[in-house]
Amino acid sequence: MKNDTRIKIAQRIGSDIAAKHALDVDKNSRFPTEAIAALKQEKLLSALVPVELGGMGMEMTELTALCTALGQHCAATAMVFAMHHIQVACIVRHGLGSPFFRSYCQELVEKQMLIGSVTSEVGVGGDTRSSICAVEVAGDRFTLNKDATTISYGAHSDDLLITCRRDASAARSDQVMVLVRKGQFTLEQTSQWDTLGMRGTCSPGFKLTSSGSSEQIVPGAYADSSSQTMVPYSHILWAGLWLGIASDAVARAATFVRAEARRNPGVTPPTALRLAEVTNTLQLMRSNVQAVSQECEELQKSAEGNESLLTIGFALKMNNLKISTSTLMVQVVHQSLLICGIMGYKNDSKFSLGRHLRDSHSAQLMVGNDRIYAKSASMLLVYKDE
Ligand SMILES: Cc1cc2nc3c(=O)[nH]c(=O)nc-3n(C[C@H](O)[C@H](O)[C@H](O)COP(=O)(O)OP(=O)(O)OC[C@H]3O[C@@H](n4cnc5c(N)ncnc54)[C@H](O)[C@@H]3O)c2cc1C
Repeated sequence: MKNDTRIKIAQRIGSDIAAKHALDVDKNSRFPTEAIAALKQEKLLSALVPVELGGMGMEMTELTALCTALGQHCAATAMVFAMHHIQVACIVRHGLGSPFFRSYCQELVEKQMLIGSVTSEVGVGGDTRSSICAVEVAGDRFTLNKDATTISYGAHSDDLLITCRRDASAARSDQVMVLVRKGQFTLEQTSQWDTLGMRGTCSPGFKLTSSGSSEQIVPGAYADSSSQTMVPYSHILWAGLWLGIASDAVARAATFVRAEARRNPGVTPPTALRLAEVTNTLQLMRSNVQAVSQECEELQKSAEGNESLLTIGFALKMNNLKISTSTLMVQVVHQSLLICGIMGYKNDSKFSLGRHLRDSHSAQLMVGNDRIYAKSASMLLVYKDE
């Protein structure tokens, strides 16, 4: 069940803190320190940790609403928040059979560590279900090195969750996840992060070197945690924050149109028609995000639990949500820009939409849509919709 107080807290952090620094974060490609500190202060980095371990036991629809609330003000803050929670979800949903991960979650509640994601790797492109690097276990210790193309907020992460092959003899797709803690890894930056958008995520490439205790390997196969958790949480939480970016673009367009209407009382400005059009697309986006996030939450609670998240039908729905929201968002922001005209094009106007447009273009390549279409295409060869 959604907790309105927590959503209000995220809205306040969004409007009072993230929004205040969003321009600087974007302009200087800098980490959104202030907003993430405020989220930590409210213990929101452990929102997904079960209540019995001290967390909030937050469910999918509420977490999605929080991502939307932050995305309305600073896409980078919302993306860091979402990506951290994708990692926490993998730990909470697949690791709690292990005393190490139960204790880690309790520590997360207390210390609010920020967890980065290391799935991408030089040599496999954006195929998260394939790794070249392997965890090497000797006795009760492991070593793991990875040449990652992109690690968002890598330099600001306390801990990292890394995908890799199960061992040096395993196939590329036979993967596990390993949590490495601050002090157990070093990162050597291999590229810059001077991008079109999502600049505050601070996501250059890094060569990672790490070692630790073998209990830090998340139990089970990554094949399962990917389908049941990493993919649904990524696509739903990303879609949630993309909805936030799109909503703010439409809100700016609506303010612009109303101001025009006030200047000529009794006359409906021509841009009002375009506003009606863009709100239509935004509603489509919102309904899709809410419906899929609700369905995922219900499936997680169903008697079949995780098994129900492994069906082809569910995987197709996740893929469709990612593809449609990442595409519609660009459309919505572009339509809003046309409504605001030059005032939206200027960087120093309250109707400015340049940042929204640049941020929104990251969505279709953050796991390339064609890569996702290719997966859906092969599933549709055997799937019969009932
Ligand atoms: C803002 C942002 C933050 C990120 N943060 C992280 C992070 O924290 N950690 C991390 O590990 N990664 C991160 N990534 C990387 C991301 O997850 C992808 O790995 C990366 O965006 C894909 O890179 P690519 O386009 O070079 O690779 P590819 O996926 O290889 O795509 C290259 C091109 O080939 C096409 N293509 C590839 N495979 C197929 C196929 N099978 N069928 C059809 N077309 C195909 C794609 O559509 C695309 O046009 C981030 C990316 C962004 C944009």
